Amino acid sequence: MPMHPLVGHWDARRRLSRAFRADRLSQVLVFTGPAGVGKQRLGLWLAQLVFCAERGEEPCGRCVACKAVEGLAHPDLHWFVPIPRPKASDREKQVEEAADALAGILEERRRGGLYPAPEPMAIHGLASVRLLQRRAVLTPVLGRRKVFLIGDSDRLVPQEASQEAANALLKLLEEPPADSLFVLTTVDARRLLPTIRSRAVPLRLGRLSDEEVAEVLRGWLRPPLAEEALRERVALAGGSVGAALALDDEIGAAYDAAREMLEAVLAGRAGMPARMERALRQTPWAARGEFTAMLDALADTLSEAARAALGETPRRPLPEALRNRRDATALVRAMERVAGAREAAAGNVNPQILLANLGEELAEVL
Ligand SMILES: [Zn+2]
Repeated sequence: MPMHPLVGHWDARRRLSRAFRADRLSQVLVFTGPAGVGKQRLGLWLAQLVFCAERGEEPCGRCVACKAVEGLAHPDLHWFVPIPRPKASDREKQVEEAADALAGILEERRRGGLYPAPEPMAIHGLASVRLLQRRAVLTPVLGRRKVFLIGDSDRLVPQEASQEAANALLKLLEEPPADSLFVLTTVDARRLLPTIRSRAVPLRLGRLSDEEVAEVLRGWLRPPLAEEALRERVALAGGSVGAALALDDEIGAAYDAAREMLEAVLAGRAGMPARMERALRQTPWAARGEFTAMLDALADTLSEAARAALGETPRRPLPEALRNRRDATALVRAMERVAGAREAAAGNVNPQILLANLGEELAEVL
């Protein structure tokens, strides 16, 4: 199953294509832009363009090279993604372990569909960089060039043992082998080592349009979503396929918690303590991020209810208790209270206490 097709980023494509055909393409590029908009996918597209037998403005998609890139089976394409820290103590073994881990991830991606962001602890460690160095000196197998795509390259951070990894990569980028193209991707170029950043030509990618995100999800999300759920997901994703994929877990949980909270508040003061207590207990606040995500979901739900109160169609299904509200002012006041809690949450406040207070305030205004 081939990779999902690249959508959007037409300006970036044109610029890359023009530079390549004029033989002006920098050997070290860094694609920056929001998470999940297809930075690495554009890197694959560029690999296709570089390897394509047709040498057109866009990769032909039909030649052996194009097909091989799409199937992630091109021997001169080296895609590095963050992997777990190798367990072996022997350095040689660590490199083998890194190669196996990368092969495993690519095998999964070869099976098609869309893939999630890397695990939080995954890195480009020294073993990955050593592997990269080794592959950089190989002669290209099919064509005349090699392409190295280094996704989430900010995961190569100068901390602990990875300073050495950063320096090793730096050496490679300072004098890249003439037949090699390096494409780094990162959400924020400032997270890269300044020395690496200064050697890379930046290309900034923007968010995708809702229609572009929908196109990718419609064609490639497994299992597929029903059209209504898909539209809801796209509206929340903010132009990022990655965000749309992550919504299942994080945002879905945040909206569920927000709905419970609102239901507890709106069930009336009589049942409040017990209901609030249940809502609080059922929600795991393992991380502060989850708590603020819940507050954001709460604000968004209230904002959609206010739209509905003004006769607009809400962009996501509303909790039963908020469906037929006609008083937009009360809803806006509730949003202000949530915004206040959101500010307080940035400080060192106990989420449970903050939430209990917020519950009281919302019960007053709603
Ligand atoms: Zn081609």
